[in-house]
Amino acid sequence: MRRVVIAGNWKMHKTQAESLEFLQSFLPLLENTAEDREVILCAPFTDLSVMSKNLHGTRVRLGSQNVHWEESGAFTGEIAPSMLTEVGVTYAVVGHSERRQYFGETDETVNFRARAAQKAGLKPILCVGESKQQRDAGETEAVITQQLKADLVGIDLSGLVIAYEPIWAIGTGDTCDSKEANRVIGLIRSQLSSADVPIQYGGSVKTANIDEIMAQPEIDGALVGGASLDAEGFARIVNYQS
Ligand code: 13P
Repeated sequence: MRRVVIAGNWKMHKTQAESLEFLQSFLPLLENTAEDREVILCAPFTDLSVMSKNLHGTRVRLGSQNVHWEESGAFTGEIAPSMLTEVGVTYAVVGHSERRQYFGETDETVNFRARAAQKAGLKPILCVGESKQQRDAGETEAVITQQLKADLVGIDLSGLVIAYEPIWAIGTGDTCDSKEANRVIGLIRSQLSSADVPIQYGGSVKTANIDEIMAQPEIDGALVGGASLDAEGFARIVNYQS
């Protein structure tokens, strides 16, 4: 049985005060959440420490949105794996398309980050996905195959979550058709040597489409951007109807 993993990616949203306000509304809404659903919040670095204290004894796990591959050094603006584990972070998003697009992330650096995360005991949430141009050119399969091949070198699949996030569906309201997402996720799974890796869908997931997305047999969860910022809305997503 594969795990169900629902993660919110807050991106560059929420101050510490706002993150605590969110938790106050959000946590009580998880009282009846099915036991087998893993719930993660990937928050800005500055929120992680205070959130960790407030999540103690709850079912919610914390994630960072990036992690560097060195343990320390002259890497202005980066964060080391041990700095994250020290404040109670469990997961680290690596290779998000916004990092690849705007901050020069390559498959090689994504792989370095994922490996360093695992070495430090963090679980990577590895993001892959094609652009609109690549999809239109019929290159979806080739792009994803290449990303997986490069990003997974030396990675222990037992501690991994993969997120399929078609770039054209992110923040656009233009969700990938759930059957198509299911198809691509099946393709991703067919390329892994383990059948147990949870694979999420990400890209304009919202309360209105989560039930349909989660009804797809290959889809094990969601990586939710904009719709994870609202406590009631994200709780509704976590509590999707199966
Ligand atoms: P949206 O849910 O806002 O489309 O963002 C998806 C995403 O990038 C999650 O990592």
